[in-house]
Amino acid sequence: MKTIGLLGGMSWESTVTYYKIVNETVKKELGGLHSAKVLLYSVDFSEIEKCQADGEWDKSAVILSTAARNLEKAGADFIVICTNTMHKVVPQIQNSINIPVIHIAEATADELKHYNITKVALLGTKYTMTQDFYKEKIVHAGITVLVPDEEEIEIVNDIIYNELCLGIISEASKEKLLNIIHGLAKQGAQGVILGCTEIGLLIQQKDMELPVFDTAQIHAVRAAELSIEV
Ligand code: GLU
Repeated sequence: MKTIGLLGGMSWESTVTYYKIVNETVKKELGGLHSAKVLLYSVDFSEIEKCQADGEWDKSAVILSTAARNLEKAGADFIVICTNTMHKVVPQIQNSINIPVIHIAEATADELKHYNITKVALLGTKYTMTQDFYKEKIVHAGITVLVPDEEEIEIVNDIIYNELCLGIISEASKEKLLNIIHGLAKQGAQGVILGCTEIGLLIQQKDMELPVFDTAQIHAVRAAELSIEV
């Protein structure tokens, strides 16, 4: 079995989800007392969020590259960065290590293709929704990406940083996100990417009929499968 290197803490609320899912998946596949071999490097999210807000992405890349190198030194076979947003600096991280980074958007694109989705809604942080580093992976797979309007982008972003990353689960915010998703479905989205690893803490498939693609779930299952080479 390979050792999964989780680069988490962004926020730790969703890193918990990753830890749970990799273990559940390995147990499901191998049975008995099997569990995942995991190394976790959990950063201080406050430092990372400050880099984001200040536009100091290179500084955040140095922090995450150092963490990834430490995971490699400790014996990780591959790296799983437990956040969509910080995939912005994957090129720098990948350049500083000799083991692969399993890309969250590539894993998600594979899942969308598996379900024959050609037009999809994307919810995530404002960085993920407005910049290209993430969307381009989905578009590259031949899938059209729909994002909320400017005002809605701020609403989603606020819910992520001021509630979900702090462990706050609010029914009112859930309604707001469901309304935004409904609007994107009316524009032709055949599914919705929960492109922030905390959104699955607030909304799940049971809340809507539109197919839900939860990136934390998809990414963690992919990591577990790779570790046991399913
Ligand atoms: N975990 C979130 C994501 O998947 C947001 C926190 C962050 O900025 O890393 O993008």
